[in-house]
Amino acid sequence: MLFAKGAAVRSGADIAKMRKAGLVVAEMHERIREAIRPGVTTGKLDRVGRDVLARRGATSNFLGYASPPFPAVICASPNAMVVHGIPSDDVRLDEGDIISIDCGAVVDGWHGDAAFTAPVGEVDADLLHLIEVAERSLEAAIETMIPGNRLGDIGNAVETVAREGGLSVVEGFTGHGIGRAMHEAPNVPNQGVAGTGLKLRAGNVLAVEPMLVLGDAEVELLDDDWSVVTVSQDPAAHVEHTIAITEDGPWVLTRA
Ligand code: MG
Ligand code: MG
Repeated sequence: MLFAKGAAVRSGADIAKMRKAGLVVAEMHERIREAIRPGVTTGKLDRVGRDVLARRGATSNFLGYASPPFPAVICASPNAMVVHGIPSDDVRLDEGDIISIDCGAVVDGWHGDAAFTAPVGEVDADLLHLIEVAERSLEAAIETMIPGNRLGDIGNAVETVAREGGLSVVEGFTGHGIGRAMHEAPNVPNQGVAGTGLKLRAGNVLAVEPMLVLGDAEVELLDDDWSVVTVSQDPAAHVEHTIAITEDGPWVLTRA
């Protein structure tokens, strides 16, 4: 999705409403993390997410999204799958896999969106490195999210941490503004030149989502029209938070 305009500026009251959606997403993450183990299916993980949404009176911004309509409340993308994996009772996680989970929630019309990558049981050290660097790249990006900095600072932070960790950045997919819709202006790239691009303002709320690969980051779309995988079959990590830029610094709305 391409946006020509800048990011919406939200009031403190509206950001507080987005925090409610963010906390539901955080709870989905927590419950799904607890359920990840060798032998679990990604279909089961989707049901864990649905349970949290129902219990909190929230709805899914993933279910029915786009065309063909996404059929689940989480994306579950194992190993070489980067993003947008469709959960299924036929996809069983094995010891040594990694799994990326992306999900969102809507509360009173306000959206949250976040993702994490987790190991399944015991995994190789290089996969733990992949996850750790991806998480660090997101934290570095979040630190740049203060009024007066620029969009390019966010992407540059992701790219720099990825490169220093020996990882590749997936191109063609970005983060995004978020608010009354899951995807709003602007796109938030995972690459950029520091000090360039849109100026960040207090009240902007952005979803930042590094997608990093241990190896070659060229990707392709599978026949289901959703699943994005690395052509190389090299493993990928995807981490994301919804973050409000405030005068007091970044507020990670999807962190418990
Ligand atoms: Mg997401
Ligand atoms: Mg997103």
